[in-house]
Amino acid sequence: MTSLPDNILHLPEYHVLATKMEEHDLHYQVEAPEPLACEECGVESEFVRFGKRDVAYRDLPIHGRRVTLWVVRRRYTCRACGRTFRPALPEMVDDHRMTRRLYNHVEKEAFNHPYAYVADTTGLDEKTVREIFKKKAEFLAAWHRFETPRCLGIDELYLNRRYRCILTNLEERTLLDLLPGRQQDAVTRRLMSMTERHQVEIVSMDMWKPYRRAVQAVLPQARIVVPEFNQ
Ligand SMILES: [Zn+2]
Repeated sequence: MTSLPDNILHLPEYHVLATKMEEHDLHYQVEAPEPLACEECGVESEFVRFGKRDVAYRDLPIHGRRVTLWVVRRRYTCRACGRTFRPALPEMVDDHRMTRRLYNHVEKEAFNHPYAYVADTTGLDEKTVREIFKKKAEFLAAWHRFETPRCLGIDELYLNRRYRCILTNLEERTLLDLLPGRQQDAVTRRLMSMTERHQVEIVSMDMWKPYRRAVQAVLPQARIVVPEFNQ
């Protein structure tokens, strides 16, 4: 076991105890910070350690390797109130057993890559990736549904073995909507539902005919441009 600087993971509250490298995986054993006060009654410094176990949390990949943090999670018994508690972990999304920064990474990655790929590169299972993506998509759909852009981007994503149409505001660089498919009638309906759709001046999209027909029918005033690079 080599001694390691604690800032190696950029998680300053954790103390790195050990590391192990495998072909596709990196493991870090880390110690969670000591609590300041009892989480039940708030009394400070009146607790004793009461058992521990290593719990695996996924973190951002490093140099192409998946990262697992083995967090030494302790339980404490409070002498003031007699209760036992396990302190909440900073920087972690406990429901999903991963770091907050990995959660944010998955939200972004799942828009651009198939779930299986994101799962494979992070070590998460596909179901978790899908759940995170779904939550984000629902959030975006709820907040951005009625925004009408001046420059509309129409693109598609291959997600979970099917093509899905994605609508973006090119100037704001925001996602407007993600449709379940890419059929002409679905795209047409979605464009029809935009408020003040006459305000759309430019539509950027590739040569996929159903999109083109939908735009010509619903946004006849818009100039169609073909993006130079298809990412
Ligand atoms: Zn207490």
